[in-house]
Amino acid sequence: MNPFKPLRSLVLCGLALAAAAAGSSARAQDPAPPSTARLRPMVVDFLDVGQGDSILVRSPEGKVALIDAGPTRDEAARLLKAKGIESVDIAIVTHHHLDHYGGMEKVIREFKPRFFMATGSSHTTRSYLKLLEAVRDEGITSVEPTGKPRRIELGSVILTVFPQPAYSAKEENDNSIGIRLQYGGFSVVMTGDSEEGERAAWVSGSPDLLRESTVLKLAHHGSRNGTDQEWLDLIRPEIAVASVGEGNSYGHPHAEAVSLLRRNGIPLLRTDQRGTISIISNGETWNLVKPDLASRRAGRARAGGRVAASGRQSRTAARPARTAGASTGWR
Ligand SMILES: [Zn+2]
Repeated sequence: MNPFKPLRSLVLCGLALAAAAAGSSARAQDPAPPSTARLRPMVVDFLDVGQGDSILVRSPEGKVALIDAGPTRDEAARLLKAKGIESVDIAIVTHHHLDHYGGMEKVIREFKPRFFMATGSSHTTRSYLKLLEAVRDEGITSVEPTGKPRRIELGSVILTVFPQPAYSAKEENDNSIGIRLQYGGFSVVMTGDSEEGERAAWVSGSPDLLRESTVLKLAHHGSRNGTDQEWLDLIRPEIAVASVGEGNSYGHPHAEAVSLLRRNGIPLLRTDQRGTISIISNGETWNLVKPDLASRRAGRARAGGRVAASGRQSRTAARPARTAGASTGWR
């Protein structure tokens, strides 16, 4: 049975994946989780994997998603273990570049996620084919984004996979999978390494999936082609995160992107400066969990804020963080 038939959802021990109906993106954005769940925290970790992406999502119900696995073979799996992760429900590779899938084969072998999502892009390498072999060997259910929004229920945290734009044979970055995480009024937009072409397709075709997100994971590690004014005007993030390696040869994040964020008054957090960036939210407020590398990079700004439960009319400005993390039991 294919559980990903359009308009059909499958719930397996609390993890549900489905293709959303056309035109239902607004509904997907406002999943209205049970009010009791909103009082319990979820955590998103932008893991410090060097120059690459790896984003860990943990729901209040203990469901786990891993979006990308960084450039090196061992680091993502090591970081998951260090955080006490024992199983992964869904692993996603946003696109076929090593800085996003390099650690995924080991994650697949060691954590045996129940679902694996990637595109069918023909930009493949031997190491990517080895990853696909691992997915097949472990008997993991493999799924792809479609032309419609796809809804993944990670307990009460909703991941909405953006409609996949037309395939780019020229630029693999523009084949990135885009995802909106929503938990009550807290949200995160993450679009892999999407450049102008793919982002423009989403701006015109799926603006509701971008609109008013609490956190923006900068596309393409803060490259100048991953962020522009129109993008920020739609997303209006309270905070931006750049997943970058210290002293990387690409110059990420680019100065243009950094100054654009500054002009828009959006604080930027960088994994090369803070290490893993962990954000905790109960669906109403959010805070940074203590930076892993606070001692290495002392004195960096903290942030936190309150998010509107629905709509954004009552957004408030970011305000100093309370000491989240210490008493939550999250690592
Ligand atoms: Zn990348």
